[in-house]
Amino acid sequence: MSLSLCEADVAVGRVSDLRFDNVYSRLPDEFFHRVAPQPLRGARLAHFNSSAAALIQLAPSVAAEPDFIAQLLSEQALPTAAPLAMCYSGHQFGVYVPRLGDGRAIVLGQVRNADAQLWDLQLKGSGPTRYSRGADGRAVLRSSIREYLCSEAMHQLGIPTTRALCLIASDEAVYREQPEPGAMVLRMAQSHVRFGSFEYFYHTGQHAYLRQLADYVIDEFLPQARERVNPYLALFEIVVERTARLIAQWQGVGFAHGVMNSDNMSILGLTLDYGPFGFLDTYQAGFICNHSDHSGRYAFDQQPYIGAFNLTCLAQALLPLIDVDQSAAIEKLQAQIKEYWTVFHQQMADISRAKLGLQTQHEGDQNLWQSLLALMEGGTDYTLAFRALAGFDSSKITQPSALRDMFVDREGFDAWAQRYAARLQQEQSDDGQRAAAMNKVNPKFVLRNYMAEVAIRCAEDNGDFSEIARLMELLQRPFDEQLGNAHYAAPPPAWAQSISVSCSS
Ligand code: AMP
Ligand code: MG
Repeated sequence: MSLSLCEADVAVGRVSDLRFDNVYSRLPDEFFHRVAPQPLRGARLAHFNSSAAALIQLAPSVAAEPDFIAQLLSEQALPTAAPLAMCYSGHQFGVYVPRLGDGRAIVLGQVRNADAQLWDLQLKGSGPTRYSRGADGRAVLRSSIREYLCSEAMHQLGIPTTRALCLIASDEAVYREQPEPGAMVLRMAQSHVRFGSFEYFYHTGQHAYLRQLADYVIDEFLPQARERVNPYLALFEIVVERTARLIAQWQGVGFAHGVMNSDNMSILGLTLDYGPFGFLDTYQAGFICNHSDHSGRYAFDQQPYIGAFNLTCLAQALLPLIDVDQSAAIEKLQAQIKEYWTVFHQQMADISRAKLGLQTQHEGDQNLWQSLLALMEGGTDYTLAFRALAGFDSSKITQPSALRDMFVDREGFDAWAQRYAARLQQEQSDDGQRAAAMNKVNPKFVLRNYMAEVAIRCAEDNGDFSEIARLMELLQRPFDEQLGNAHYAAPPPAWAQSISVSCSS
């Protein structure tokens, strides 16, 4: 489908004017369950994300319409939408669960934007579906705020992620350990298909559907795979590469996902399903952000391995599509998983070099990087230290206290600083230019848990969403100095350590 230039320029002024093209809903019934969202009492707009709205040419003025939320939740207002919950399975904490599916999310429909790109509009917290497994299909305000803020933060950090169009608050109580306000996030992604979507059709022996799912993903989102001799192997190759790059980016920015189950892994290599995630405050390689993760399966430093594990789950699911000869298929897929590590290490080397402000590649760079992390372990704020490292003065033996005092082992840091200075000299690095380059890759602002928590408390206690708005504004420009917002770039307060987050709230 092609649109003329002037059509593409026209913004969609009302939600009811969105043009839906529900390609996924035309797949066989096994792929989903048709179900409409259930209204939430007192549902109201808490925040609207104009930058996500622009992806589908939705005019920001829609948010000012008094019936905006009512329209989103009304079948009559969206007659061309085809709401559905997607079916999938997946490996949760390493154990295969035969059927999961969207238990509390509904894809309202798929919108084609002016560039003919398909965008799923998915309401999370929209009520029970066939896949709810006895749970209420709802999401609480605190987890919705966290997802809403973090997906925007990740996007602005340059990390592939689902987006969020708006946050919806309500007066309806949702029962967890105690009653809490219910909420919804209207999430957007080109596709919400997961590794687990493939696993479902493989493990139920529905291989024709498996192929149809792969064809859907290739034709809509990864058409470059269709040009290749073996499009399904090419699909896997692309997913491998994107996953490796994604996880390297997480490690670079200090992001722990928290629940890397294979049903939370996007086939498009997006950060998907924000739950008990956390950004590192103090650097701790084994940081566990999810309080239900007793074994540390999803600890920060385990993420690259879990990426490989999940790709193995996906590889198994793709087996019937790769080659009629099973051992040949296994060999081809295994070769790709090997490639995962090559891409991951390459990407990690590039990211770490950029974080150190190095322009050239040298043999000792990884050691320099690892030694710095070892010095940070348990005592140094990850984000603040890299930001401060931009101020490293290569002409001085002793570094400014603003940097040096961040390290518990100051002499150890001094020794490292000498190696770093020598390495910088080796490439005739200019301190000013290096600082400017480093500040473009080392963010000043990340969404620390305590920041989200402050926004959550304001919203829960006073129905005040202004902190959400402030953080959304702040996180639009994570690399900029934003001097007026310096307090958000301070070390977290002591109470931040008492925050506890776990799965599925
Ligand atoms: P998550 O840990 O959020 O990725 O969720 C894992 C699975 O449980 C998914 O299939 C979710 O849709 C489902 N789920 C989580 N919370 C709820 C809930 N409150 N009601 C229904 N299903 C849920
Ligand atoms: Mg999930």
